[in-house]
Amino acid sequence: MTTQAVNPSPAPARPVILTVDDDPAVSRAVARDLRRQYGEKWRIVRAESGADALDACRQIRLRGEQVAVLIADYKMPEMSGIEFLEQAMDVFPYAKRVLLTAYADTEAAIAAINVVDLDHYLLKPWDPPQEKLYPVVDDLLAAWSRTERKAIPAAKLVGHRWSARSTQLREFLARSRVPYQWYPSESEEGEGLLAAAGQDGRVLPVLITEQGDVLVDPAPAELAARVGIATIPDYEFYDLVVIGGGPAGLGAAVYGASEGLKTVLVEKNVLGGQAGQSSRIENYLGFPDGVSGGDLTYRARLQAEKFRAEMVLTRHVTGLEISGAARTISFDDGTSVSARAVILATGVLWRQLPAVGCDALTDRGVYYGATLSQAPDCRGCDVFVVGGANSAGQAAVNLAVKAGARTVTMLVRAPDLTAAMSYYLIEQIATIPNIIVRPCTEVVETIGDEHLEQLVLRDMKTGQQETIDCGHLFVFIGAEPRTDWLDGVIARDSRGFVLTGPDLGDGHLSDWTLGRPPYHLETSVPGVFVAGDVRSESAKRVASAVGEGAMAVMLVHRYLEGS
Ligand SMILES: Cc1cc2nc3c(=O)[nH]c(=O)nc-3n(C[C@H](O)[C@H](O)[C@H](O)COP(=O)(O)OP(=O)(O)OC[C@H]3O[C@@H](n4cnc5c(N)ncnc54)[C@H](O)[C@@H]3O)c2cc1C
Repeated sequence: MTTQAVNPSPAPARPVILTVDDDPAVSRAVARDLRRQYGEKWRIVRAESGADALDACRQIRLRGEQVAVLIADYKMPEMSGIEFLEQAMDVFPYAKRVLLTAYADTEAAIAAINVVDLDHYLLKPWDPPQEKLYPVVDDLLAAWSRTERKAIPAAKLVGHRWSARSTQLREFLARSRVPYQWYPSESEEGEGLLAAAGQDGRVLPVLITEQGDVLVDPAPAELAARVGIATIPDYEFYDLVVIGGGPAGLGAAVYGASEGLKTVLVEKNVLGGQAGQSSRIENYLGFPDGVSGGDLTYRARLQAEKFRAEMVLTRHVTGLEISGAARTISFDDGTSVSARAVILATGVLWRQLPAVGCDALTDRGVYYGATLSQAPDCRGCDVFVVGGANSAGQAAVNLAVKAGARTVTMLVRAPDLTAAMSYYLIEQIATIPNIIVRPCTEVVETIGDEHLEQLVLRDMKTGQQETIDCGHLFVFIGAEPRTDWLDGVIARDSRGFVLTGPDLGDGHLSDWTLGRPPYHLETSVPGVFVAGDVRSESAKRVASAVGEGAMAVMLVHRYLEGS
């Protein structure tokens, strides 16, 4: 046999950090500071005008290379930094965007957060760069590396555009950060993939994994296991079981594991909870430019993994049993896991829209909370959002700015947004021209055969009804706890939220056997604690959920020391 020398393939080009400033001295200084820190792994490209920088972007794109971060001066003649970033987004939509501003221009930079979905603004001068420039760029490069992986799809999902199962799988993959490409079954590529997979398309969706395995309409647990997500606990007994993988549960898992407790977190779906559905959380401490729920969840997951908290997903907890010192939780498949202490962090779920025909169209044009996987389908469309609180406002901004919907109409029962929405969000919405707020309006009927086609709206002042065309309706009308499975075990208030500490009063403590009253986040059962939105009278905020997760762990220690 003969061997042939093969030219080694060239090393992949380094991704680019591109900086543009019309002042040559500043431009050189930024490039110099960046090169010193990042020159080895990243290519630093600098330009002295928006037009030159755009030209550089296009050349880089044509060569098949990538731009990771764009840093643009705000005040440039001819083309401002914001204008440049806006146009550069078309060429490199995943590049992270930074605006360089003088202190006096801070207001403009804040406004730009909406216009170009700015990731950060940097005040000039940025000396010393170790403190003011590098931490920002480090964070952006890390975030870009993650999204970039997402931009190179591996698995392929073929399904019907309006099928509820396809919607659920797309949401599952997107929220789990599993790279995938979506193909409608009626498209040429979709048909080709189905043929290659030996499927006639009668049962959809079909997932073709990175390794080429074919999964036909997989259950979430099967899908999770195939993409490397743990679905079975490693042990039978733990120090601490945390139920729920939202901010409260993740907070509890991080603190529990980092403080030496053998901890497992169980979640019925994917990590993130409600926060995982948020396109940008603006009021969480430490993120002045906001952070997407997906990113926050990803960081929390890494942190929990670092401390060796075990995370078991797609497992629905349906029972809690107390037997001596053991607290045993059971799953819907009959299996169970026990611990010395439990933290309930099961949050809340969306309330269903009480409109005729709505149930049948859920995930077929009517979506609860989920905008992540649906956003690409909304480009150029007229979409509708029901609700007037912060979650609805954030979704409207996301659909109008990021997803590229033609118009987003907010259907609000109240006379205006002030009743339930934060001031900053009302202001933000007022600056976005393709968001229309329609007050005193309720949805009375949703119409469609295979998928949503029309809405019947009622003017609450006049009682007049109107039928309009609509393909996408996103519902954000508040949420309620789903705690029926705790019936007869844990005391709850009249709406199903779990009572703790002083709120239990004597009426709920007839079975309480300890010589001390329940701790602040402790339920009517010793050793079972609550954190986050599912707690009666909780604040319904990410920060308070995380804080309660940490506090509940502190009380678990106290309980275990005394038990
Ligand atoms: C779109 C949107 C935007 C928001 N924006 C903001 C914001 O900008 N700022 C802010 O402070 N707050 C915001 N909130 C509110 C914030 O997200 C919540 O207060 C926070 O997520 C509550 O955290 P949690 O962990 O208590 O509950 P959740 O986030 O609800 O998480 C609960 C988790 O428990 C799981 N679970 C439930 N039952 C079971 C069971 N039986 N077995 C296993 N697992 C179970 C659920 O699947 C879920 O993952 C927003 C909410 C939404 C929906």
